[in-house]
Amino acid sequence: MPHATIIGAGIAGTATAIGLTHAGWHVTLHERATHPETSGAALGIWPTALAALDELGVGEALRAAATPQAAGSIRRPDGAVLATLSAERVTRRPGDPVHLIARRDLAEMLAAALPVSAVRYGSKVDPSGAGLDSLAGLDNEAGEARADVVVVADGVFSTYRTALLGERYRARYTGQSGLRGRVAVTTHEVTETWGPGRRFGVTPYLDGTTNWYASLDAPPGQRAAGGEVAMLRELFAGWHDPIGQVLDAITEDDVMRHDMYDVHPHLPSYVVTGGARNAVLVGDAAHGMTPDLGRGACEALVDAVTLARCLAPGRVAEGLARYDRLRRRPTQRLQTLARNAGRIAHARRLAGARDLLLRAAR
Ligand SMILES: Cc1cc2nc3c(=O)[nH]c(=O)nc-3n(C[C@H](O)[C@H](O)[C@H](O)COP(=O)(O)OP(=O)(O)OC[C@H]3O[C@@H](n4cnc5c(N)ncnc54)[C@H](O)[C@@H]3O)c2cc1C
Repeated sequence: MPHATIIGAGIAGTATAIGLTHAGWHVTLHERATHPETSGAALGIWPTALAALDELGVGEALRAAATPQAAGSIRRPDGAVLATLSAERVTRRPGDPVHLIARRDLAEMLAAALPVSAVRYGSKVDPSGAGLDSLAGLDNEAGEARADVVVVADGVFSTYRTALLGERYRARYTGQSGLRGRVAVTTHEVTETWGPGRRFGVTPYLDGTTNWYASLDAPPGQRAAGGEVAMLRELFAGWHDPIGQVLDAITEDDVMRHDMYDVHPHLPSYVVTGGARNAVLVGDAAHGMTPDLGRGACEALVDAVTLARCLAPGRVAEGLARYDRLRRRPTQRLQTLARNAGRIAHARRLAGARDLLLRAAR
């Protein structure tokens, strides 16, 4: 039986492990954490990603646990609508709406679909000084076959990407820091509100709760000396309803803060092959993108099913080349779009002209 070693059991690595297992591969998944992810806010799952989850056998569980996303708008801080997003338009072609699911619920569903023996939690693997040969030999110590393929799924700060492709391809700070959480406030509409150098988003969620997110221009690593909640209330004071209500309900313990990175420059290939060595990058390790389009996890799921379809045992190099052809261009286009969307949302100069154009385009 062909054997794949996968590095990282995030969404990309776990989904790939399920896909390859279904395709007849023996899989070993190394994850440095000791258990599946238990934190994180909600993720928007777009129809293409839901189709990928259907292929992995997890789609129905997700539909049952998720909330279909309501209609939405982009607004100015005074509440004026700049653009609208109709839920029907997103749904019309694929037949599924965008579904919101708690990240930990998705992580649990994926972990439950894996063979228990496939995953080794608490297994941090280290590429330092290792060539591809020793990557492929990773599971030899465990008495397992040498890997026919190494799947690199160790996230946006991937050390294996560096080992394979060099220091040039890095996680680049976007200049924006993101904060998010969930509050017990009922809202009815998805809104994202743009102000100079900052934005605030509100998404109705389950059981009368609301997910919120904010982003602001900030140096990397900066944290509010007087607490994030006080800083948020000051930055977004006077913004339209229901932002004030949401801000009143936020407590310091509920705020998650992440600086936002993407992978830059675009990778020349998602595949490194040569001799008996085969490695492939999936998810954020390949195409880490800013969350502005809400597509990083979705694309990781599509990577997983595409790779599983491409990798016929015995014809690994051909299958990897096909995966690269199918996935590199579309995901790199999204990386660029996402970064530009973030810049437009935070625009300081020409924000007035941007708003006029958006309103005219409605
Ligand atoms: C604020 C925010 C909001 C987002 N919202 C959305 C959204 O609505 N919809 C969407 O589709 N996407 C969204 N995303 C993007 C999404 O979170 C990522 O694209 C996705 O989590 C990437 O999954 P991954 O498995 O590639 O990487 P990760 O989730 O980073 O997983 C990598 C895994 O590898 C492990 N690992 C790393 N190094 C090693 C090692 N040496 N040995 C063993 N294990 C290792 C890590 O512990 C980790 O578990 C958002 C991102 C952010 C920051």
